[in-house]
Amino acid sequence: MQKGYRGRLFDFKTSAEIHDLEKGFKYFEDGLLIVKDGFVENAGDFQTIFNKTAQSFEIENLGKSIIMPGFIDTHVHSVQTKAIASFGKELLDWLDNYIFPAERKYEDPEYATFHTKFFLKNLLKNGTTTALVYPSVHETSTSALFDTAMDLNMRLIAGNTWMDRNAPGYLLENCEASYKLSSQLIKKYHNRSRLKFAVTPRYAITSSPEALKLAASLFHEYDDLYLQTHISENRKEIEMVNHSYPNHRNYLDVYDDFGMLTERTFLGHGIYLEDDELKRISKTGTKIVHCPTSNLFLGSGLFDYQKPLHNNIQVTLGSDVGGGTSFSMLQTLQDAYKISAIKGSPMSPLLMFYLITLGAAKALGLENRIGNFDKGKEADFVVLDPDMNPLLKYRIEESVSPEDLLFAMMILGDDRIVKETYLMGKAVGSNQSTAGRNQI
Ligand SMILES: [Zn+2]
Repeated sequence: MQKGYRGRLFDFKTSAEIHDLEKGFKYFEDGLLIVKDGFVENAGDFQTIFNKTAQSFEIENLGKSIIMPGFIDTHVHSVQTKAIASFGKELLDWLDNYIFPAERKYEDPEYATFHTKFFLKNLLKNGTTTALVYPSVHETSTSALFDTAMDLNMRLIAGNTWMDRNAPGYLLENCEASYKLSSQLIKKYHNRSRLKFAVTPRYAITSSPEALKLAASLFHEYDDLYLQTHISENRKEIEMVNHSYPNHRNYLDVYDDFGMLTERTFLGHGIYLEDDELKRISKTGTKIVHCPTSNLFLGSGLFDYQKPLHNNIQVTLGSDVGGGTSFSMLQTLQDAYKISAIKGSPMSPLLMFYLITLGAAKALGLENRIGNFDKGKEADFVVLDPDMNPLLKYRIEESVSPEDLLFAMMILGDDRIVKETYLMGKAVGSNQSTAGRNQI
């Protein structure tokens, strides 16, 4: 089964270097993406490809819409959607007041299934096709996430969250039980369909030393798991970690000591990391996930992108819903840009779109599968229609460069300009037409 999509086509070359993205991107004003059996068959200039193609197949004309690889959200909580936009607390109080009660409800399988579907639907309608996700401590929420993603054929990485202290009793679980549950879920879901497992101790405050040690040992039992946790998001959090781990030099040292820093480790936030912590992160190939809408919303602080960049650390981006205020990676880019502007070095539009497509795919070690339109890649893509936003349409009426187009889309755009999202060539999440679509 082969189908073509004609429109403006944008992606990055696999060889793209973060310091030289001007040479690393491809843009065709009249482009064609051909998908065959769920994989990219060809992508490039419409006329050139069309003239060479002997076979006849359906071509959908998307006009001036932009076809680009699906977005990758590397830090989001599937169990916090109900608590999004909750007023006036900083991280630790916000967790106690809003988040833990919200996560508790996912113990119920019916609740977990219904609300997880809503969560994934929101990712898709925002153009996000791959996500690194924190469910709750419960088997119910983690299974609901994997099962629903599998039904959708979505690329998803997740694992039950571990917490054995400093949270309400109803969410605590001793670490042997978390270990057992994670082991069972790995056997059931890891590498099945498009799923991967991430060992997920929430963070050093809610994990005892025994729990972190056990989580790290589970991670090292396999070659291809991921590990995700939070770090240095909020000053009070850092004080509390220093207090509960007095024998460690700094926050990062806690994770380092248990062998948790690896190329497959994703640390959320990292706003207040010191120079020696950044050096250690760089040396171990650990990734940092910048979550701008969340950092602004919770008043956590302003992430300085230049620091990891100078240390050759791979940074990715996360919506961090429900601390984050939008599922849209366009909105996430918008706030990342504003923070970088305040910090005195505005991030370029090419850099920003790289971070949510090929850059994130490389950080995840999935660049052979997703992230751009090279032949043989899984055909996860998004179609953006700027005309759906009248102000954006007005802004780009006159001819604009690809960079200017991208920039205007991320500053003014959101889910309303997502015309359709495709997973392996199948339409799954539209804001404009639902007829005949595989909607949840
Ligand atoms: Zn988070």
